[in-house]
Amino acid sequence: MNIDLHTHTNVSDGKLSPGELLQRAEDKGIELLSITDHDTVAAYSKIKHTSLTLVPGVEFSTRWGKTGIHIVGLNIDLQSDAISEAITCQTTARHKRAEDIAAKLERRGVRDTFTGAQQIAGNDNIGRPHFAEYLVQTGTCVSIEEAFKKYLGPGKSGDIRKYWATMPQIIDWVCAAGGIAVLAHPLTYNMTRTKLSLLLDDFIAAGGQAMEVVSGKQLPHETRDIARLCIQKKLMASCGSDFHQPDKSRSELGQFPPIPADCDPVWENF
Ligand code: AMP
Ligand code: MN
Ligand code: MN
Ligand code: MN
Repeated sequence: MNIDLHTHTNVSDGKLSPGELLQRAEDKGIELLSITDHDTVAAYSKIKHTSLTLVPGVEFSTRWGKTGIHIVGLNIDLQSDAISEAITCQTTARHKRAEDIAAKLERRGVRDTFTGAQQIAGNDNIGRPHFAEYLVQTGTCVSIEEAFKKYLGPGKSGDIRKYWATMPQIIDWVCAAGGIAVLAHPLTYNMTRTKLSLLLDDFIAAGGQAMEVVSGKQLPHETRDIARLCIQKKLMASCGSDFHQPDKSRSELGQFPPIPADCDPVWENF
């Protein structure tokens, strides 16, 4: 089966509308899809009809110690009180964080970024990619990559994690909504295997049940390595492109290696 359980629309920091994303997924022969926008499920109320099977999902921002991490909630009840509460808290966090990012940038001599970033976001889901785009538009940076490297990426002034709900709280919300909490793209946190193993122990202790074994383009040895960890921790395995936009340099919908056969596919447990 052609599956993609991690994708974004323009309701968060993707470029396609929910309808355009679904059309593209259908065109690519995807049969099981989840839209997992950052801290919002608003895409689901914009969908009229689709021929593929849609798994209700979301990608929550949280933190583990000093590290910003992401947790995908899959097969959640979109109407649940837990999801409503989670979205309300995370939206407030996102807004406060954006004000702080703008203040930090101001101190570094880049003025009035809040309004600019908000306009690019086009709704209340304002995030670092919108600031990055504004910094490029106004000539402060030459590329999105440079904006993250200088101002917004890990350890830089715009990387503010304190407002996000804690990891146990996020996992509680996902579980209370009847969903499965999935640790997103574990290879992107640049952790040693020892540290990643400790993160997974805390994640499991809090009720986390799955991890992404494949996230977008990935080397065979990375997949084997992360699958081994997944099996060792008795977690279910998920996979997704983390698609944001049609762009050759980024992951395309459904285009990633399969999860190894000895993994327990999360979708068989929905
Ligand atoms: P936020 O949700 O506001 O914390 O922004 C995080 C998002 O920024 C990620 O989901 C990516 O889509 C994007 N992102 C993170 N790092 C980079 C980077 N170096 N270049 C481009 N986009 C990035
Ligand atoms: Mn993103
Ligand atoms: Mn993510
Ligand atoms: Mn994502």
